Amino acid sequence: MSIHEDARKWAEENWDPEMTVREWWQCLADARYSLPSLPEAAFGRGYSRAEEQEVKRGLADAGTLGPPSNIATMMAAPTIADHGTPEQIERFVPPVLNGTESWCQLFSEPGAGSDLAGLTTKAERDGDEWTVNGQKVWTSLAVGTDFGMLLARTDPDQPKHAGITWFAFPMLQDGVEIRPLIEMTGNAMFNEVFMDDTRVPHDHVIGDLNNGWRVGNTTLMFERGSLAGAVVELPYARAGSQSEDLDMPAGSFGLRTEGGPRGNVDAAPTAVRFGRYARELGMDDPARRDARTRLYVREEVNRMLGMRARSGVVPAIGNLGKLAMSEIARMKREAGNRSIGAVGMLSGDDARAAIGNGEVQATTVHSPAPSIYGGTDQVQRNILGERFLGLPKEPGPAKETPFKDLSKN
Ligand SMILES: Cc1cc2nc3c(=O)[nH]c(=O)nc-3n(C[C@H](O)[C@H](O)[C@H](O)COP(=O)(O)OP(=O)(O)OC[C@H]3O[C@@H](n4cnc5c(N)ncnc54)[C@H](O)[C@@H]3O)c2cc1C
Repeated sequence: MSIHEDARKWAEENWDPEMTVREWWQCLADARYSLPSLPEAAFGRGYSRAEEQEVKRGLADAGTLGPPSNIATMMAAPTIADHGTPEQIERFVPPVLNGTESWCQLFSEPGAGSDLAGLTTKAERDGDEWTVNGQKVWTSLAVGTDFGMLLARTDPDQPKHAGITWFAFPMLQDGVEIRPLIEMTGNAMFNEVFMDDTRVPHDHVIGDLNNGWRVGNTTLMFERGSLAGAVVELPYARAGSQSEDLDMPAGSFGLRTEGGPRGNVDAAPTAVRFGRYARELGMDDPARRDARTRLYVREEVNRMLGMRARSGVVPAIGNLGKLAMSEIARMKREAGNRSIGAVGMLSGDDARAAIGNGEVQATTVHSPAPSIYGGTDQVQRNILGERFLGLPKEPGPAKETPFKDLSKN
């Protein structure tokens, strides 16, 4: 039997919409169907990304809730699987796979975004623990998360990229203050995170002290690789110890759209959905269809590229896919608004009531985000130029200059 058929058969035998999310996710984790692209030593099946999508296709055919799908599954678990000790893998990966712990990404700071290695959040050793002081910003979904992937400076005497460490940072502690930031979407997905004399145990250092730049780059590689291609969509529930979804019936969840409303939007390709809206509104014509066809082709090519993201076949595939994905976000905005015309000017409840649960309008206000998060388009192009095409590096101070001697910002 193929991977797809195996997964579908397993799901049909095990799925019960009356189970709680917690029970269903434990069942998926026990069968190693939560994140099968993880290595076997990290509770996965060692599948390629394409094989992982086959599992999701099997689950979708059986009509199940999807496995946990979030920052933890996208970045934290694969990073820990690559760089963690067996004890750390045992501690941190299973609660990601059964959805009982959630993670956020504590990388960007007010003075360190594209120039991530310029970060100044400080961690100082204190016996078996570290004391952390500093501020992060643009931290997506930080409220109520259990852990943060924290990059902090542990040795300012070392060069910029050398004195950084990757910590599994406990978020639910005194001294962590989270301030939500309202975006133009009307949501408050991202946040400022202040850390004031906060603590993290030494055994939460992932991938060795002062090796955080390398570990962080693994995280970014997984982030960009995951963002690269569209994947099989499945109904979504929120993970984490603070999530109220865990004790809800697993059958009570719908699909999620990027940056938009949950539920009521089906899993057909975006261009197909937009076509349906255009026909419902009586606005279909060849010019509008042309924009949708271009979108369909671009999304399909990127989906195929994304399938190869973890196979190592094409170098830089994550960067290429991420660039394509931000272009696709703009294409969706164009094709969507062409398809629904003046209805695109509605917002809030009016937009949701008009057509497609407000999907096009939500997509429009979300469209600038993908060219920024996970490293901006310009940064992706710099990486492609410098690391893959061999172009000269940007001018700057000597690489070995201690961080404390560099001018900041
Ligand atoms: C929706 C969203 C969610 C996010 N979630 C998270 C998160 O969960 N965790 C997290 O840590 N961060 C997150 N971020 C932050 C994101 O990683 C940063 O915004 C991004 O890396 C850019 O950094 P910056 O905002 O400081 O902009 P800057 O680095 O100040 O860049 C400003 C402009 O200058 C350009 N630029 C900068 N340097 C160069 C250069 N060397 N060459 C050419 N152009 C350059 C940039 O491309 C950009 O256009 C998120 C951002 C968004 C929009």
